[in-house]
Amino acid sequence: MTTHVDDDGLTFSHFEAFRLINFTFIKACQTITAPDLSPRHRAEKLMRYHGDLLAAYGPGVPLSFGDFRQKLLGPIEGLLPPWLDRSGFDDLDFPVVDEEGCVTAIAFDLQWETAQLHRILNRLRRIGRMRFTEEQLQDEVDQDQMYEILKGRGDAQYVKDRTTLVECPAGTAEELNKRNLPLNAIGYYEAIPYHSIYHTWWFPCTVCKWPMKVSRRVTAGREYYRVACLYGRHADTGASFTFWPTTGDAPQLHPDSSDTPALHEAALALGTTGAVPEARPTEGYLALKRGVWRYTCVPGLYELRLHTVLRERLAAGQMDVEEAIMLWPMSDVYDHRIEVKGPDGSAYVFTVDVKDYSNVRVLAESLHRNEGDKGGADWLVVPDHRADQIPLLTVTCEKYGMKAVTMTEFAQLVCRSAGVVWE
Ligand SMILES: [Zn+2]
Repeated sequence: MTTHVDDDGLTFSHFEAFRLINFTFIKACQTITAPDLSPRHRAEKLMRYHGDLLAAYGPGVPLSFGDFRQKLLGPIEGLLPPWLDRSGFDDLDFPVVDEEGCVTAIAFDLQWETAQLHRILNRLRRIGRMRFTEEQLQDEVDQDQMYEILKGRGDAQYVKDRTTLVECPAGTAEELNKRNLPLNAIGYYEAIPYHSIYHTWWFPCTVCKWPMKVSRRVTAGREYYRVACLYGRHADTGASFTFWPTTGDAPQLHPDSSDTPALHEAALALGTTGAVPEARPTEGYLALKRGVWRYTCVPGLYELRLHTVLRERLAAGQMDVEEAIMLWPMSDVYDHRIEVKGPDGSAYVFTVDVKDYSNVRVLAESLHRNEGDKGGADWLVVPDHRADQIPLLTVTCEKYGMKAVTMTEFAQLVCRSAGVVWE
């Protein structure tokens, strides 16, 4: 495969090539570490991914099977062919899998984020020059199908169902059944992922309640374990613990990060259970697939928090918030629609999309290709801990009549417009 310019003048994007290569590496890395594969199946799958990769590299970029296996353990930068333009990405010097064979959060995010971009590019050009395997499409289809399943029951029920999904990323089959989710949505829950299991136990994140990842560590010759949420911000704000090995009993966790938020972010900081999580048996428990957790639950918690805080504050300011503050309106064209009246009677309408991307350049490129927000939102809001993305997003958003701000800045602005004091 080579870079080319097609009929409408758009460069055949390095993002597309990157996405295919990153995907192949993720699948190959998972194949190396998947516990349930026979050696023969493992070898067969790896050979197939090796072939996919050579096809993506194109002629003149040799890669032996041995080198391929070796490179799977290194940073993603080492896996890219020389011709691929890296300028559209932030740092690529990170591994695709960690020591436990679990796909790293940053590689996982980059895969999904470039996939979103790829769809936009594909829609723009409707070309099919890249080869796509069925499983490759499946990861993306999952997410879409889930929204379709939720949408099938009407706007009001959509908000309820999506809230349930966000608030309930793991549970027993009995607990999940009680939540009244559409039957098909239950299919997005599966056994507790193996990277989250210690003996026969798992531990819910104190912020999002999804199973935290378990890693074995050694310090001064002594073995211990760390258990932390795969979403780094949760791990940094309380969802990180250590424990000593046991012979099979449930271990006792000890916190190793603080959950006290910075003062200026405190109002919109996500709630935590505040307690050390108890070990739960893997038997009988189910958890949402990683992609659904990452792209529905994780941003969903921010969306719900922003919604709740705005309703509380504006209601306290004597505003009728029932129709004026809407979450996921019209089955989710954007995330929030907020209508307020200023003290002088002037009306303001804010339409908002919350974007929780790890790779800001890919997000900017997606906005650029969509010529703004796909659903027509005027405001792009990022979680407070992504404040460093604002300068780049502001430049992109300005071209399309949008504005980019952090959640706290946005909430303050809405309250100010409504004449409500923000302490
Ligand atoms: Zn979490």
